[in-house]
Amino acid sequence: MIEVKALHKRFNDNEVLKGVDLALQPGEVVTILGPSGSGKTTFLRCLNFLEHADSGAIKVDQDWVNFNQATSQEVMALRRRMGMVFQNYALFLNKTARQNIMEPMVLVHKVSPTEAYDRATQLLQTIGLGAFGDYYPAQLSGGQQQRIGIARALAVHPTVLLFDEPTAALDPELIGEVLKVMKAVKQAGVAMIVVTHEMQFAYEVSDRVIFMADGAIVEQGTPQQIFESPKEARTKAFLSRFK
Ligand code: ADP
Repeated sequence: MIEVKALHKRFNDNEVLKGVDLALQPGEVVTILGPSGSGKTTFLRCLNFLEHADSGAIKVDQDWVNFNQATSQEVMALRRRMGMVFQNYALFLNKTARQNIMEPMVLVHKVSPTEAYDRATQLLQTIGLGAFGDYYPAQLSGGQQQRIGIARALAVHPTVLLFDEPTAALDPELIGEVLKVMKAVKQAGVAMIVVTHEMQFAYEVSDRVIFMADGAIVEQGTPQQIFESPKEARTKAFLSRFK
């Protein structure tokens, strides 16, 4: 169970998040849609404490943690339960695909190198890159690098994976392979919060779709509700651009 309450964030006098609430069931996949600048990325980054929220609280599995009073131990404990997948993959360029997947297991989760090696090898198979473990990021396509990014986040058995526009930097022909891996993550029962503009993916894979604008949740529902009969004018206007 993941819960976020009354998350507020401002950059100087720009109020970017105006009190966002969200609760996820175990294994639930929630997609966040919305216009550029509506605060989607900032929301994800605040959950992970990559950005400092002004107020609000978060709970992942265990106790509530206040965004503006968290101790470094609390932040570390939360981060261990949340994986993040970035738009630009954020892989270590001087490490191989397998080393990238092993790194957080060994450094953050204190998994033994042998066990981490085996789990990385198994994950490389899962994402269809069994033969690429010794390749460096520069030798891989964007889609392959992003699949490594997902495997790395998944390796530590997170409660929830946060995806920040994971396919935005990819050539169209490489998007499908990444979305396929994301579907497999859902099959594995890991909860996901996905910021994306991939409407087909949102429609097919989400349990719930959230439409966000101007720092607040405007509307949410099942993919059918949001895509087929949106209620709010702003949701309708946004979705009409993708028809
Ligand atoms: P989205 O992901 O929906 O496109 P963002 O979360 O990236 O929206 O941005 C929301 C707002 O916050 C925008 O107005 C953006 O300019 C502002 N913003 C984001 N990051 C920063 C930052 N580091 N400093 C100042 N303003 C920022």
